Amino acid sequence: MTKLCVALTEKDTESMLAAMHSLPAQVDLVEVRVDAMGSVDLERLIDGRGRPVIVTNRPPRQGGACTDPETERLAGLRRAAELGAEYVDVELDAVADLGELPGPTQRIVSVHDFEATPSDLPALLDRILQTGPDVAKVVTTAHDIMDAVPVLELLRTNTSGAPLIALSMGEEGLVTRVLAGKFGAFLTFASHAAGMESAPGQVAVDRMLGMYRFPQIGPGTAVYGVIANPVAHSMSPAIHNAAFAALGLDAVYVPLKVTDCAAFLDAFERCDLRGLSVTIPHKVTMLGLMDEVEDLARRIGAVNTVDVRDGRRYGCNTDVSAAVGAIESAARRAGMETLRGRSVVLVGAGGAGRAIAYGLADKGADLTIANRTVEKAERLAAELGVRACGLDALPDLAADVLVNSTSVGMWPNVDASPVPTGMLREGMVVFDAVYNPMRTRLLREAEEAGAVTAPGVEWFVSQAAAQFELWTGVDAPREVMEQVLRSRLTGE
Ligand code: NAP
Repeated sequence: MTKLCVALTEKDTESMLAAMHSLPAQVDLVEVRVDAMGSVDLERLIDGRGRPVIVTNRPPRQGGACTDPETERLAGLRRAAELGAEYVDVELDAVADLGELPGPTQRIVSVHDFEATPSDLPALLDRILQTGPDVAKVVTTAHDIMDAVPVLELLRTNTSGAPLIALSMGEEGLVTRVLAGKFGAFLTFASHAAGMESAPGQVAVDRMLGMYRFPQIGPGTAVYGVIANPVAHSMSPAIHNAAFAALGLDAVYVPLKVTDCAAFLDAFERCDLRGLSVTIPHKVTMLGLMDEVEDLARRIGAVNTVDVRDGRRYGCNTDVSAAVGAIESAARRAGMETLRGRSVVLVGAGGAGRAIAYGLADKGADLTIANRTVEKAERLAAELGVRACGLDALPDLAADVLVNSTSVGMWPNVDASPVPTGMLREGMVVFDAVYNPMRTRLLREAEEAGAVTAPGVEWFVSQAAAQFELWTGVDAPREVMEQVLRSRLTGE
């Protein structure tokens, strides 16, 4: 089973020991970055370690901070072995000078590339293997998620018999860290906490254990993810992983910063990719890359969900039914049986507006689309045979249901509202697509006017729950998903 190793960068022996002992039991070993320490009492450190340890004293030429003469640096590694360290990490270009180690200490022979991903990783691994390592280690830098592919391939095709650590640094390399267990790596590294990384892209140990459930990831784990660019802000990994955990499913969901959707799909389907959430800017591109597309997604021109089954890609759109469902549920609370014939004003004609407009038109609503750029509203309205106007016409419209699908009011511009307060009245329904913050200025003002409101979190959770159900065939744990989203948004 792939080990979880926390790389510690504390500055002195006492803080290093305290950090080692503060780690959760699921952490299999720690890496002591001696080169990050101002002073070190190696004997005390190894004596008091409490769990297996890797001693690393990296020189600047391999991205470390040890400026000692090489003989002294390597003598330090030999000393760590004499004291009983389980592993020492030695660079490929120094392993000959290090020589054999006393006792059972194992040598991790490593190569790091902080610039890029070398073109021939198998050849690089061969050079490491020729030195007879106990563990081989290849670390590269990913600038695109496609750079992670040869690293995962190196793990997948390693038949050398030598345990292998292979990972890509950087945000784009996150998959290599999280999926290390699926592809049989010897270990993966995590940081002690966010901001304490010993290498770019390390995931904090609490996230590795809590969100990704790293110890559960193995060869059979199904891989899901969200493709977006940027993706770091996405709440989807938190809620989908929480849902997998709640139902005890052998699956993991990762953020995927993708630039080239076609290349990504071709490469990652070989990595047991089972499903994707798709978001900005890939919803339209994805449509052309599917084997089969749901009719509604084709009409809207946007795929937000991909299900990969038996080598076939099925694309659909869960945004529409989720948004309309949230609006219908609020309408019922306001005493409206149905949206048919109801006067609905949709503000916004971007991606979210487009999905909602199609859903509302299908429900027979009497729809008016208002947008800052009137031509966009007009184009969308013409597709659906409904009315369009600019935002200046809003005060003259009387709506049973008002829907905001613009980004106005979204964090950090939380004091903005897309509509004049004069439009808001008792008994009407107001739905806001914006979910960060959960209670927007529009929703606050609508409640004050006596309207029935529906927040964007309901939409977000519903579209995610529908994706989960498509992929797994079981009911989504909606409360868990909603609770995770709410706590992420409120920081509680
Ligand atoms: P988008 O495609 O970029 O469209 C943005 C829309 O907002 C356009 O209609 C744009 O008008 C309008 N807009 C932007 N700034 C404006 C301003 N200052 N004044 C007036 N109108 C303005 O974005 P999107 O994907 O549709 O997303 C829109 C919002 O919906 C975002 O807040 C997003 O987070 C939210 N959303 C929520 C969910 C959910 O699950 N709750 C799902 C999807 C989206 P122009 O056409 O004139 O530029």
